[in-house]
Amino acid sequence: MISSTDTVIVGAGPYGLSTSAYLTEAGVPHQVLGLPMHAWKNFTPPGMLLRSEAFASNLYAPGGGYTVEDYCRHIHMEYKPVGLHLPVEMFVDYGQWFQSELVAHIRPVEVQDMCRKDGYFRLGLSDGSSLVARRVVLSLGLKAFGQAPSALRGVPKPYVLHSGDFGDAMWARGKEIVIVGGGQSAIGLAALMGQVGARVRLLVRGEAVNWSKEPRTSSGIMSRLLRARVGLGRGWDSNKPWLLAMSYMLSEYPASFHKLSLQHRQRILETSWGPSGAWWLRDRVEGKIEISTRTEVSHAEVRSGRVVLEVDSGNGTSAISADHVVLATGFKVDMARHAFISSEILSSLSLIDGSPDLTSNFETSVRDLYVLGPAAAMSFGPALRFIYGARCAVPRVARHIGGRFKREAGRFAAPPHAATPELANGHAGSGVHAGGVLQAVERNAE
Ligand SMILES: Cc1cc2nc3c(=O)[nH]c(=O)nc-3n(C[C@H](O)[C@H](O)[C@H](O)COP(=O)(O)OP(=O)(O)OC[C@H]3O[C@@H](n4cnc5c(N)ncnc54)[C@H](O)[C@@H]3O)c2cc1C
Repeated sequence: MISSTDTVIVGAGPYGLSTSAYLTEAGVPHQVLGLPMHAWKNFTPPGMLLRSEAFASNLYAPGGGYTVEDYCRHIHMEYKPVGLHLPVEMFVDYGQWFQSELVAHIRPVEVQDMCRKDGYFRLGLSDGSSLVARRVVLSLGLKAFGQAPSALRGVPKPYVLHSGDFGDAMWARGKEIVIVGGGQSAIGLAALMGQVGARVRLLVRGEAVNWSKEPRTSSGIMSRLLRARVGLGRGWDSNKPWLLAMSYMLSEYPASFHKLSLQHRQRILETSWGPSGAWWLRDRVEGKIEISTRTEVSHAEVRSGRVVLEVDSGNGTSAISADHVVLATGFKVDMARHAFISSEILSSLSLIDGSPDLTSNFETSVRDLYVLGPAAAMSFGPALRFIYGARCAVPRVARHIGGRFKREAGRFAAPPHAATPELANGHAGSGVHAGGVLQAVERNAE
């Protein structure tokens, strides 16, 4: 079965759900494809606490509301903008509540292929159906972009896993686990796996674990003001007012990043918000988990059902063996890793080192194709790697799509019989334009 709509949002995480709320307000017929909060529910260990503060972990609705604070009120829980440390499970519940209140037209399917013909996108879905749309917003998160050090790339699962490959960490109980990485994900996992009864060793490349500092209210008035307001905290570990001002700009006004030269943008992305462990994890890790610093895995293989690593450190090379190795070695955006995107679309995408080069409205070089979330960081800065980036991105993309929809609506008006089943159910808004899309595609298919 083929159906149609004006705009498809692929991915139902914080960015996708917020975009849907805004498009509904703008009167744009659309569908959201994906399971709500899927990545957070299934690939983030229960018990893990969000690194972002509660006030920087909101999904966004036009006119405000439906915030974490509203959700806490809804479930009769005390709210604190800073220091609440939301458990992942609660964040999932919050996202699902937001979806149930504001996002009606959602389909729990995976997009398996997407191509473009005569100005329309055609998406093949995991339930066997197809969907035709004039516009597509990709809000796919980080899952496809997991990185592995070259020495570990050839070792099969489940001996070597990426931190994004599993949710519940109970499988690690009683096992020897080596975690590679020195950021929040590695440290958070080490703490969790230690708690469930795994013997964990953490291999960190740097000289030491870089612990974030507990927020304080001392020092100058400017620093205090900036720290209080910056959604992402401080991007650089410095008290220099100009670096704090830069953190403030990047966090609160990601659109300003878009105006910088490519060289500046790349430099900022490399140096800001580097790997670090949240200060509140320190007590759960130090003295409880074996941490080896200045280490680099140079070779890995499976021997007699265990992974054997050759690890270079300041003291030479040593062999370490474990039941499993978990890589928490970060993410690198590479649009080609979204296997469902056709090679024609990929070859028309203007990319900077794998990341889409976006306009100031988050549109790619392929007209009517938009990218939100972490994959937009090369164009809009480090804020887009976090939920907080949706605050700027979502209203902007919805305004642009809404404007185009209104300008084009007359041109694509369809007779009443063109309505598709989801239009009849009222799922896709006014449906006039969407019916036109389906007709045009059917004409092209003839
Ligand atoms: C372990 C971990 C902890 C993190 N903690 C924080 C934190 O505390 N605070 C913070 O701000 N950020 C955090 N992040 C970053 C976080 O991933 C992003 O901020 C946020 O999830 C981005 O939202 P999103 O909607 O773009 O992506 P996601 O929430 O990942 O949603 C994308 C969705 O797209 C779906 N999808 C992908 N491909 C398809 C397809 N082909 N068809 C249909 N659906 C598809 C996925 O299933 C997923 O549900 C963390 C990341 C990780 C890995």
